Amino acid sequence: MTVVLASRNKGKVAELQRLLTAQLGDVIDLKSLDDVGITEDIEENGTTFEENAMIKATAAAGSGYPGLADDSGLVVPALNMEPGIYSARYAGNHDDKANNALLLKKLEGIGDRRAAFICSLVMVFPDGSAPIRAVGAVEGEILLSPRGENGFGYDPLFWYDPAGKTLAELSADEKNAISHRGAAVRMFARKFARRMGLVEDDG
Ligand code: IMP
Repeated sequence: MTVVLASRNKGKVAELQRLLTAQLGDVIDLKSLDDVGITEDIEENGTTFEENAMIKATAAAGSGYPGLADDSGLVVPALNMEPGIYSARYAGNHDDKANNALLLKKLEGIGDRRAAFICSLVMVFPDGSAPIRAVGAVEGEILLSPRGENGFGYDPLFWYDPAGKTLAELSADEKNAISHRGAAVRMFARKFARRMGLVEDDG
């Protein structure tokens, strides 16, 4: 089945294709917005991860194929759930180093450094049938300084206690096994398989 991911990033399409294939086999053939000729910018003006994923997936479904979109970010309870939907541009632009520096500055003197990554993944169907919604989360703590070279975004600051490492110290496969995005993809795959009748619907 052709599915359009609401992204122009070839790396992101390839990565999500790999995760979906691992769960579902060769059922989904993921295309990018550019592959189907959707060139206009999508305005992400939602107030939650899920709203933004829904907006993007709806735009992708304008292709006539099912549209898939994810939206994710970091939430820090002690900062009133910042940076949240502004995670990518917390410090004003899409600069991971500046975002991390701002996060550390805002947490100066704050003892409660708990944090979580959240990922919302939504599929919208062009025929108007009910969207498939999935969510995943991973809990951790924000360190005082970065550790590790892998991953992206806030990974070097995000301590994942069960592994005794930051997410930037995990391999891509190790991170997928425990990450918000990995969990959302697995929930999505289960729901998608039931919807498509690929497995028996046990409710
Ligand atoms: P996106 O919705 O997946 O593009 O993520 C938005 C922003 O959230 C990214 O630019 C990062 O700042 C942050 N983020 C989301 N997922 C991760 C992750 O797995 N590690 C580190 N940062 C992340």
